[in-house]
Amino acid sequence: MITLCFAEPTLSINDIQVRSIEANITDVKFIFAEVPEIHYFILDHPSRLVVDVNNGRLQIPIHSAAFSGTLINALRQGTQPHQVLRLVFDLNAGVRVSKSMADPKTVVFELKSNSPQGQRPAAANNSSPVVMAQSPLSQNISNKMSTAAVVKTVPQGTRKVVVVIDPGHGGKDPGASGPRGSKEKNVVLAISQDLYTDINATAGMRAVMTRDGDYYLTLRQRLQKARDADADIFIAVHADAYQNAQSRGASVYALSLKGASSEAARWLAAKENYSELGGVDLSDKNDMLRSVLIDLSQTATISASLKLGDDILAQMGLFTALHHVAVEQARFVVLKSPDIPSVLVETGFLSNNTEELKLRDAQYQQKVAKAILKGVIAYFYQQPPEGTWIATQVKGQKREA
Ligand SMILES: [Zn+2]
Repeated sequence: MITLCFAEPTLSINDIQVRSIEANITDVKFIFAEVPEIHYFILDHPSRLVVDVNNGRLQIPIHSAAFSGTLINALRQGTQPHQVLRLVFDLNAGVRVSKSMADPKTVVFELKSNSPQGQRPAAANNSSPVVMAQSPLSQNISNKMSTAAVVKTVPQGTRKVVVVIDPGHGGKDPGASGPRGSKEKNVVLAISQDLYTDINATAGMRAVMTRDGDYYLTLRQRLQKARDADADIFIAVHADAYQNAQSRGASVYALSLKGASSEAARWLAAKENYSELGGVDLSDKNDMLRSVLIDLSQTATISASLKLGDDILAQMGLFTALHHVAVEQARFVVLKSPDIPSVLVETGFLSNNTEELKLRDAQYQQKVAKAILKGVIAYFYQQPPEGTWIATQVKGQKREA
């Protein structure tokens, strides 16, 4: 299922050079074809250096002979979810690692064994602070490698981020329909249910559906559900239709600020007990100031929404035509929560013969859900909300780097 939505890895690793600097110091130099995105960490018992390369592809065979006289015994490679190439260096000593860049495309890891002589039994090593991040990028590690991996969690945030999924339309409102009679309300519910399952299967994330059956909800009810769930983000899932049957491709929308402020004000007016917005206490502010603060909050929310939309669009663009190549902004009421980054994904055109065929196909629906999931993961790992489990993982990885 997962492999369905993966494009070929594109980042070439042109060479890996291993060199013994001193008896207890080994350098591992990676030469990439482009500026890489990598994560690395050390595991103990047995001692290993793990390097995850996003989109990585190893261009050359690496022979263990190249490691003689160094702290490295062997190199293994495997593929992780989310298009990550995982390289595991088996080490013959417990080490500390530091990373430096010779240039943006050349990364050097310096491995320094914890004993002056090197060759120290790894089991004796305790000084290396190991954080094995249970991020989606590395959570499968224990399946692939020794079960003796040391896992220290950083005791900070544990809250899961909440993703509210809003399947468009429903009940008396079928939405768009296709030449074969497919109804948008059914197609987007199926995609949303796949996404719901995927998100709940992802570490640090929890999904909530605004509707999980064929019934009608007003736009206000959808927004209210997002608010009640304390949503971190809101994703509306739709499928387009147009009189021109040639129209095709996916789009992602975020709110346009034009018209947002009056909407925000109306929303606020409707909420009598309203006192807090994104941490800003508004209870003692006058109405004028309130609407300014809401505008500011909305601006920040829209820029976060655009970021989220970009991340989703980038994933969708890997396997489907895009109707708009950038995130579009429009005045959709359903996107108007002043403080919840919100996007609307138009998954394709039901009115297009070919796209209708795809959109009603269960495998394709899963593919779309996976793409949205990957966009959501990218978004949260780049700007994790404070106090969340993901924020803790990201901090742990930074500390290690
Ligand atoms: Zn729709």
